[in-house]
Amino acid sequence: MNFIMFMPGLKDSVITKVEEFGETIRIYVEMARKVHRCPQCQERTKKVHDYRLQKIHHLKWFERKTQIFYKRRRYVCGCGKRFSENNAFVERYQRTSLEWNLAVSIRSIKGKTFKETAEIYGTSSTTIVRRFDSLSKNEIRPIVELPSVIAIDEYKGDTKEGKYQLIIADGVTKEPLDILPNRYKNTIKHYLKKHGAKVQVVVMDMSPSFKAAVQEALGRPVIVADRFHFCRYIYWSLDGVRRRVQKEFHGYDRKKCKRIKYVFHKASERLTEEERWHLHRYLDMSEELKQAYDLKEAYRAWFCRAKEIGQEQIAEVKKELLTLYKKIEDSKIPEMCKAIQTFKNWQTEILNSFVYSYSNGFLEGINNSTKVLKRNAFGYRSFERFRAKILLTHKYKRMGSHVG
Ligand SMILES: [Zn+2]
Repeated sequence: MNFIMFMPGLKDSVITKVEEFGETIRIYVEMARKVHRCPQCQERTKKVHDYRLQKIHHLKWFERKTQIFYKRRRYVCGCGKRFSENNAFVERYQRTSLEWNLAVSIRSIKGKTFKETAEIYGTSSTTIVRRFDSLSKNEIRPIVELPSVIAIDEYKGDTKEGKYQLIIADGVTKEPLDILPNRYKNTIKHYLKKHGAKVQVVVMDMSPSFKAAVQEALGRPVIVADRFHFCRYIYWSLDGVRRRVQKEFHGYDRKKCKRIKYVFHKASERLTEEERWHLHRYLDMSEELKQAYDLKEAYRAWFCRAKEIGQEQIAEVKKELLTLYKKIEDSKIPEMCKAIQTFKNWQTEILNSFVYSYSNGFLEGINNSTKVLKRNAFGYRSFERFRAKILLTHKYKRMGSHVG
């Protein structure tokens, strides 16, 4: 009984038998006999020399372990050359099918741990790691020249090479490009000197050492402070005031005020009735807290307006920012004044964020998935492997686990 059946990964083969052997499914396949060209003299031949049975590990079928028994044919040419026929599902001397190899490779990137992937595909962790390493060697091209807009951010990777790593992404396509083993100024500077000749815009959080590295390596590129990062300074300072003030409250209110701290952050027009009630209860208990809250709202109004008009009227945005500084400094609230000092140090970069609409917010997303990755893998102690996993995960994000 010979039948040709469509079966993923067994393209063009003839299935001669399918049987159950204990828990395993065995599929017996061969290729149709046809004219082949001799690899030595290019003559055509159809003369069979012999057959060899090759046992191949294939993807599970109906959740059963599946083996292919391939009756591999060898042809012989008039010139004396013996050679193996062509087929689309297994390479010579391999004990796993091409389909299996591909699925395992993709799973080694997308799976939680190498160990788990090994269990799913009935193989050892070492095999999975080996596949992953060879895949990353082929797939990750070293960066020669960075694009004109880049975004940089740090994340805590805890590898042998350092606690923090630096991720560099394309600011326009948002594709992660490279990961540096640490965030030291000299590491960044050296890297940018080597690959950054074309870089014109750098998006970053407010780290003085990033700024120094970028300026020393690239001269005067446009530096854009990430909006999320500079806004945080205002919210942190409001938190600081709240924490200081609530210490004076009685037990219940102290705890309650701490518990509803998110209410202070929330945009006032989006507060629910209950939230508004609580907010005003605590603002009424401290004039300073009320003042800090109002300054946060004033900041928010400036920020929304800057987003709206920044591209056409940056001079106006700047003027309003200076007015805001004055208002905050007049309040003499130490936490708020400190935040303003940071704003002054980064004023050009902050204003740039409204002129150029780049951000590195998307890097937070990458960093969060990296955290999950790290937890799952119980720490990729090897920096190289960790770096490969992050870059490949992104590259294969849109690809399913079963492609053939
Ligand atoms: Zn020949």
